[in-house]
Amino acid sequence: MTSLAHLPPLRDVIARFDLGARKALGQHFLLDLNLTARVAAAAGDLAGVTAIEVGPGPGGLTRALVESDAKAVVAVERDSRFVAALADVVAAAAGRLTIVEGDALEVDMTAIAPAPRAIVANLPYNVGTPMLVGWLRQIQEFRSLTLMFQKEVVDRIVAKPRTKDYGRLAVMSQWLADARLVFDIPPQAFSPPPKVMSAVVHITPRILPADAPSFKDMERVVAAAFNQRRKMLRAGLKGLVAQPEPLLEAAGILPTSRAEEVDVAGFVRLAHAWRAHQDTQG
Ligand code: SAM
Repeated sequence: MTSLAHLPPLRDVIARFDLGARKALGQHFLLDLNLTARVAAAAGDLAGVTAIEVGPGPGGLTRALVESDAKAVVAVERDSRFVAALADVVAAAAGRLTIVEGDALEVDMTAIAPAPRAIVANLPYNVGTPMLVGWLRQIQEFRSLTLMFQKEVVDRIVAKPRTKDYGRLAVMSQWLADARLVFDIPPQAFSPPPKVMSAVVHITPRILPADAPSFKDMERVVAAAFNQRRKMLRAGLKGLVAQPEPLLEAAGILPTSRAEEVDVAGFVRLAHAWRAHQDTQG
């Protein structure tokens, strides 16, 4: 086990390298190493796994990952100031930590980290949701995703049907994966504190049947349904097809239902029905 206990406190690193937080990059740092250890532990057993961290910043969570069982850690950071500040951690990690400077929205995680791989990150809140959607698109490439977001986003990921938070993010996440809220983190845990509560979610891919709809078809159907979430589906789905009723019937969904009443299995049936309809249109 690697111990990084000899490294200076994160506050000293921030002062020494003058790492004032940049709002535009969603910078809210976790300086309590007990807390970063809890976030790393939420990822479960990382033995033999390459942990990918997005946005290491001054390196609190990075240290916890280096001290974990992970085989290696690859951290992607957009703000070049942190690359120099992390040099001590890189040296102490003795070859197990690599820093990649770049925009995680554009980096292909499968190219920078060998399988099995898992993402563990305190995400920049302004771009966290598009990052998650990008990883869901290729979820089978990951052992798990352990992510910190604003709590409101986590609520939308784990939401159940017939609740106000149930929407596109819940259906797509729960179709492809099991998603579980692990714990909440109050604003005071961060420096500087954000305005809202945060939470950690643990996401593990599901094994889908061979005839599962494509991501694109599912995304299309779910987006159309929730685009008009207040309307009955027979009206709301008009953006998708001229006559939604036969599709809804084929999917076993009442045409008077609203999108938020349809469970994930219902959306899968609807995506199949839509694909069958598209295929008959040539
Ligand atoms: N992991 C650190 C911690 O927990 O204290 C910092 C977390 S802070 C919420 C988000 C980090 O993501 C910052 O270091 C920020 O510079 C970085 N970041 C922002 N946008 C990014 C992007 N597109 N790609 C990679 N890193 C990004």
